[in-house]
Amino acid sequence: MDDPKMSVKSGSDGYLALRMELRSSITSFDYRDFVHLSFFMCFPLRLRYRMAVRRPGLIALFDVDGTLTAPRKGVTPKMLKFMQDLRKVVTVGIVGGSDLVKISEQLGSTVTNDYDYVFAENGLVAYKDGKLVGTQSLKTHLGDENIRDFVNFTLHYLADIDIPIKRGTFIEFRSGMINVSPIGRNCSQEERDEFEKYDKVHNIRGKMVEVLREKFAHLNLTFSIGGQISFDAFPQGWDKTYCLKYLDELEEIHFFGDKTYKGGNDHEIYESARTVGHTVRSPDDTIDQCTTLFLNKQA
Ligand SMILES: [Mg+2]
Repeated sequence: MDDPKMSVKSGSDGYLALRMELRSSITSFDYRDFVHLSFFMCFPLRLRYRMAVRRPGLIALFDVDGTLTAPRKGVTPKMLKFMQDLRKVVTVGIVGGSDLVKISEQLGSTVTNDYDYVFAENGLVAYKDGKLVGTQSLKTHLGDENIRDFVNFTLHYLADIDIPIKRGTFIEFRSGMINVSPIGRNCSQEERDEFEKYDKVHNIRGKMVEVLREKFAHLNLTFSIGGQISFDAFPQGWDKTYCLKYLDELEEIHFFGDKTYKGGNDHEIYESARTVGHTVRSPDDTIDQCTTLFLNKQA
């Protein structure tokens, strides 16, 4: 992977560096070098630089929120420029939990062309080289009958829960998950805070998840209690590791995320045997770590 002959810079500096490298290696020249060199010299100079600069088989894959941007904020010009520079050296991809509309708001309307791979909704919507290569949804995966049974049972359960405040939007059906809130999603911030306190004492969400997990065991769902007022239900494996099925041909997958701890939405892909996981503290930390890993060797 780190073949010195491949670490060639572009431009006239690069050409000089290439000549110097060739000269310095001439003392330890054997027939394998000759084969490599003959192959290498077959291509026009410009093409040789383009081939040489990107490391084959390696991808740098990034979470969005907290990794490329501040949470729920847009990307900075500094980060955009950095990603463009990084893409000259390695294959670059992003994987976000949000849908493509939200990711485009954060990373720009040209996002699908700015990265080699773009995975929205953890990869349920997948783009490669600017083209849509795959979609998956809860509706297709579970089927209407299963979804109806789940919604019916959940609504009955919610109606029977004894909690002090109930508002509206108890079940939200999304393309990759079902979000369930015992108090209802359109409560006020004050009511959210109250519910969170109440739930800590009475374990409303925990008990409900236990019942649903047993009742719908045949659907192989994962339940995730997050935030203050709700929990998510989604098919097993529909976390960020879902996108890895599009990266089979890449041997070395470096993943960067901010929520890599247990229970965080980067945990599964960070822990996956297919990836080399990196925890970042902020977008600036992402730049620092990538500079050390991928750019310093080229400088
Ligand atoms: Mg994040």
